[in-house]
Amino acid sequence: MTVRRASRIPGLQRDDLVRGEAFIDGAWVGAESRISVENPADGLVVGDVPDLGAGEATQAVTAAQDAMPGWQTLTGKARGQVLRRWSELMLAHAEDLARIMTAEQGKPLAEARGEVAYAAAFLEWFAEEARRVNGDILTPHASDKRLTVLRRPVGVVAAITPWNFPLAMITRKAGPALAVGCTMVVKPSELTPLSALALARLGQEAGVPPGVFNVITGQAAPIGDVLTGDPRIRKFTFTGSTAVGKMLAARCMATVKRVSLELGGNAPFIVFDDADIEAAVDGAIASKFRNTGQTCVCANRFFVQAGIHDRFAAALAARVGGLRLGPGLIGAFDQGPLIDARAVAKVRAHIADAVGAGARILTGGQSATVGPLFFQPTVLVDVRPDALVNREETFGPLAAITRFETEAEAIRMANDTSTGLAAYVFTQDMSRGVRLSETLECGMVGLNAGLISTEVAPFGGVKESGMGREGSRYGLEDYLDLKLVCANVA
Ligand code: ADP
Repeated sequence: MTVRRASRIPGLQRDDLVRGEAFIDGAWVGAESRISVENPADGLVVGDVPDLGAGEATQAVTAAQDAMPGWQTLTGKARGQVLRRWSELMLAHAEDLARIMTAEQGKPLAEARGEVAYAAAFLEWFAEEARRVNGDILTPHASDKRLTVLRRPVGVVAAITPWNFPLAMITRKAGPALAVGCTMVVKPSELTPLSALALARLGQEAGVPPGVFNVITGQAAPIGDVLTGDPRIRKFTFTGSTAVGKMLAARCMATVKRVSLELGGNAPFIVFDDADIEAAVDGAIASKFRNTGQTCVCANRFFVQAGIHDRFAAALAARVGGLRLGPGLIGAFDQGPLIDARAVAKVRAHIADAVGAGARILTGGQSATVGPLFFQPTVLVDVRPDALVNREETFGPLAAITRFETEAEAIRMANDTSTGLAAYVFTQDMSRGVRLSETLECGMVGLNAGLISTEVAPFGGVKESGMGREGSRYGLEDYLDLKLVCANVA
C-alpha cells in the first residue's frame, strides 16, 4: 500500500524527494500507522513515515539476500558506475537534500550543504575503490600446493544509523558495502528518516538494483531484533550511543556476525602554552560547535595549560558569544537547536554540576529565547577534572575548560576515560605533537586541526568508542572476508 504525503518543507525543487514510504526491494512501502518527523527548531511536523516492524524488516533482509548473487557478480567497475551516478545525483540535488536535512535535524543550512558533499564523497570514493578489491597469491608451503587468497563480500549487511549526520552515516557504510558486492538493509534514526529515504530515491534513480539497498522505518527495538538476530545478515554496522551499540553488538554474537561500531567519544582538546592561540580558537569552534556540539568527535574536555589559559578562554568566549542561533531554514545561522529536550537537559545538568563545584560561566549558560530546544553556546572555566562534563559526552554546545600545568598531567587527564575516539592537540612544538599523537589513547588525532573527518582517511575509535574503521581503503576491509583456496597441483 502506498500512502502519499505532500511535502511540508518549503523551497524544494523536487517535492518527491520527501518520501512517505519505506524502500524495500526496489518498491515504496507504506503503512497506516505513521511516525511523525518534527523540525527541532520549531516543533512543526515536516513529514511522516511508516511505522514498520519485524515483518517488514524480515522482508527487507530477504530482498537483500535475494539481490546478493546478481550484485556481487557484477564487475567492480559496473558497481562503481552505479555508486558514482548516485554520488552525482546527490550533488545535483544537494540543495534539496540539505533543506530536508535541516528540516528534520536542525543543523544550519550551510552545515547541511557541507554534509551532503561529505556524504556524496563516500559514494564517489568507494565507486573508485570498487575496482581495486584484489586478492593475493602466496608462496606455497609445499611444492604440490598453490595458495590463493580471495577477498569476498561478507554478505548481507544491516546498518543502524543516528540522527546527527543523517546522510553521511549511511553513505559511509553503503559506499564500501555496495562497492565490494554486499547488499544492505538500513534502519535510520526515527528522528531523521527523511534524509535516508531521499537518499534511497536517488539510489533508485542511479540504478541501484531492487533489494541491494533497503531503508526500513519504524520502531527501533523490533527492527533492531531482526537486524541483529536474522542469521542471513552477516555483518552488522552501527553508529550511535555506546550503551545501545554494546547491547546490539552482544546480540549479534548469537549468530557470530561481523560487527563494526562507531560509538561515543569524550574528546580531549589540549592547548599548550606554545600554541598559536588563533588557530586553537578556530579549531575549538570547528570541533566543539559544529552541529551545535552534536558530533561524536566534538571536543568535550578542554585542557588548557596555565600560561595561555586566560587568554585562550577569553578569546574563545568572545568568539562563542558571537555565534548566531536560529532556525536553519529561515536564515544563515551558526547554531541550530538541539535534537530534543533530553539533550537540552543534559547540557543544563553538566553546567549545573560544574558550577556547583566552583566553575565560572564566561559566556552562555542558559536556554536561548529562539525556541525550547535552543541553548546558548557556553564556555566554562575552573572546571574540576572529575566534573560530570569531563566524565560524560555532553553532545551539546558547552566548552568546559580545565587548567593544567605539565604535559604529563594533560596526557593523564586526557587518557582517563573509557572511550577513545578523537583527540585534539594544539602546540607549535612538533616534537611534543608527535609525542602526544602516539600517547593519546584514541583513533584519531587532530594536531593543530579541529576538523579531521574526510572520506580518504580512516574514521573510528579505540577502547569503548568502537571497533572497525570507516572511510578510506581501510574502510573496505570491514566488508570483506578472506577466503583461502589451497589447490593441489600434484
Ligand atoms: P543517540 O543517543 O545518539 O540518539 P542511539 O544509540 O539511541 O543514539 O541511536 C542510534 C540509532 O540506534 C538510532 O537509529 C536508533 O533508532 C537506534 N536504536 C536505539 N535503541 C535501539 C534498540 N533498542 N534497538 C535497535 N536500535 C536502536
